[in-house]
Amino acid sequence: MDYDFDLLTIGAGSGGVRATRMAATYGAKAAVVEEYRVGGTCVIRGCVPKKLMVYASRYGEDFDDAAGFGWHVPHAKFDWATLIANKDREIARLEGLYRKNLGGAGAAIFEDRAVLRDPHTVHLLKANKTLTAKTVLIATGGRPWIPEEIEGNDLAITSNEAFHLKDLPRCVMVVGGGYIAIEFAGIFKGLGSRTVLVHHGDEVLRGFDREIRERMRHEMQKRGIDVHLKSSVVSIRAHNGRKLVRLSDGTEQEVDEVMFAVGRRPNTGGLGLEHCGVELTSRRAVAVDAYSRSSQANIYAVGDVTDRVNLTPVAIREGAAFAETVFNDAPTAVDHVDIPTAVFGTPEIGVVGLTEEAARAQFDKVDVYKTAFRPMRATMSGRDTLIFMKLVVDGASDRVLGCHVMGESAAEMIQCVAIAVKMKATKRDFDATVALHPSAAEELVLLKTKA
Ligand code: FAD
Repeated sequence: MDYDFDLLTIGAGSGGVRATRMAATYGAKAAVVEEYRVGGTCVIRGCVPKKLMVYASRYGEDFDDAAGFGWHVPHAKFDWATLIANKDREIARLEGLYRKNLGGAGAAIFEDRAVLRDPHTVHLLKANKTLTAKTVLIATGGRPWIPEEIEGNDLAITSNEAFHLKDLPRCVMVVGGGYIAIEFAGIFKGLGSRTVLVHHGDEVLRGFDREIRERMRHEMQKRGIDVHLKSSVVSIRAHNGRKLVRLSDGTEQEVDEVMFAVGRRPNTGGLGLEHCGVELTSRRAVAVDAYSRSSQANIYAVGDVTDRVNLTPVAIREGAAFAETVFNDAPTAVDHVDIPTAVFGTPEIGVVGLTEEAARAQFDKVDVYKTAFRPMRATMSGRDTLIFMKLVVDGASDRVLGCHVMGESAAEMIQCVAIAVKMKATKRDFDATVALHPSAAEELVLLKTKA
């Protein structure tokens, strides 16, 4: 049977672009369909614009800290419109690169919404055109959501809109306790908004090490973020151009924006998967095997739409492994163990491997080494902040099972430590490594006392 394409990918995000480019490089006739912007969540409205805004949000503290080092910084003023315009210019540049790279590899781009008619047929809604493909890759990612039961939920925004607000809100409520909520609370606070964080759980950052979670909340409170735990939004009402938010504890807050960051849902709705025999998980993600193959033999799925580990480098790996498997005759499964991850809040968090709680649940004897110290910079700036580090070690084998860092450059540190953890380094290997002085990271090889 002749098809229009060997591969048709739905979604030009991190996973879809990598898979399509690699497949085209291996000689496949490949195309990708994208309904919004090439680059997907990470480039257009995720990791990249977020990190640019995190940088922006940290200058305030830097200006304050400079005084201790002899700098006199006259009153610094922040302009939201400049930040957003410059951020948009950078995102447009990156989108251009993604397009160029796809084209350079010989892949076609269709700017349209794709819906599957059958396992080999994709309908393009805008163009009202049908394409056929031998293999279909679903790489449609995920999307933010706002709970339907909240009265006035149409008055709230998500991270999608937060990147394009016309003005910096004077007062903002961020709802959620995951990494996106923590990062946006830090961004808004750092840029000068009064910031309220509302989270239904008893602590922020579920899934992270308990101590990191508590310390992070404490650091946020120290910076003036008003944190409400075990609390949720009941209703939102428009009030004098602002928003009146009623919380489950009966209190009301008047704010300019309410941003929900309460998790993301896989984009599987309205895709026509029901016509194709593609099974979904209980969270409505595409169910796949280790090679990202769905229950329909010619349909694969990678990235957030599969709800495995929802991070850009993972989507990219899964996309690459798919291309190796299907178009290079080299079956490749992605290893989802010991993936480093960060929370770009202020302070920053970087982690790899097991939390202390998870290690204790899995291993008989767990040794914990930790330290909390004032970074050198803070001794002169006078800033009241600590760097926290924790190593979780298997007492029997001496293997380092997890490393958790909170403080300046934590993400940069963890990317390097992740190599050692992935190589199954032991605490003895850490001890045998000579410190690099003076640095904060040196403490990771100088931890002596078991907690
Ligand atoms: P996506 O990048 O979401 O791409 C999916 C694409 O499919 C989208 O462009 C969408 O428009 C398109 N699409 C959907 N349905 C259709 C259809 N029917 N037809 C045509 N096109 C369709 N990850 C990190 O690793 N580090 C971070 O710091 C980080 N920060 C983040 C911050 C925020 C605010 C958010 C929201 C996410 C962040 N992430 C981060 C997560 C990261 O963005 C995702 O894990 C990653 O983008 C997933 O890639 P993907 O290819 O699965 O999907």
